Amino acid sequence: MRTRYNKRFLWLLLAAAVSIGCILLTVGIVYTESLRPEISVCLDAGHGGEDCGATYGERLEKDDNLRLTLLVRDKLEANGIKVYLTREDDTYLTLAERCKIANRKHCTLFVALHRNSSESGGAGVEMWVKNTPSDTEWALAENMLSALEDAGISKARGVKSGYAKNADGNYYVNAHTDMDSCLAEIGFITSDKDNTLFDENLDAYATAIAKGIIETLDSMTEE
Ligand SMILES: [Zn+2]
Repeated sequence: MRTRYNKRFLWLLLAAAVSIGCILLTVGIVYTESLRPEISVCLDAGHGGEDCGATYGERLEKDDNLRLTLLVRDKLEANGIKVYLTREDDTYLTLAERCKIANRKHCTLFVALHRNSSESGGAGVEMWVKNTPSDTEWALAENMLSALEDAGISKARGVKSGYAKNADGNYYVNAHTDMDSCLAEIGFITSDKDNTLFDENLDAYATAIAKGIIETLDSMTEE
């Protein structure tokens, strides 16, 4: 009688130990996952609302930026990457608000999408990183530019550091985001050729930008 009681007790003890073990394992996994920063990308469609950006006839930079940004988001999400947008409609946001969104979400990368303009002609795509870029920022810019070249642009104008109007300066979003960042000028809105390429290759441009971002994320997680 006593032996049977002891046996039952031992089985109960074993069951309890297994249950507690399972619970601890689950808690451990959940805790470790929560400690691991989530990989995410913040996409910033330049301008918006009352700020149209550059214009060319009826064409508004803010609309081109948003069209492209929404497509890049789709491509990244299709690859399982978490994406935050500073805007997903025709909303006005200050530059500080854009940076705040990315910083609050602790995004891994920040990419601002714009279109260039010039009164004296000019065409092609260029990437801007801060005047003291990290290796990752430089790689992000190069990866996106080379993928866009394959997608079909009029000219690769290169990766540039600083600020177009002041070599010592920085684009606000590059200077005020806490993560690696790049501001992309996807062709000139003042160039008919660039606009035609932009419209015809929009999907390919989005795929190329997403590819450049994914390559960069992959190289970051390998380190
Ligand atoms: Zn712009």
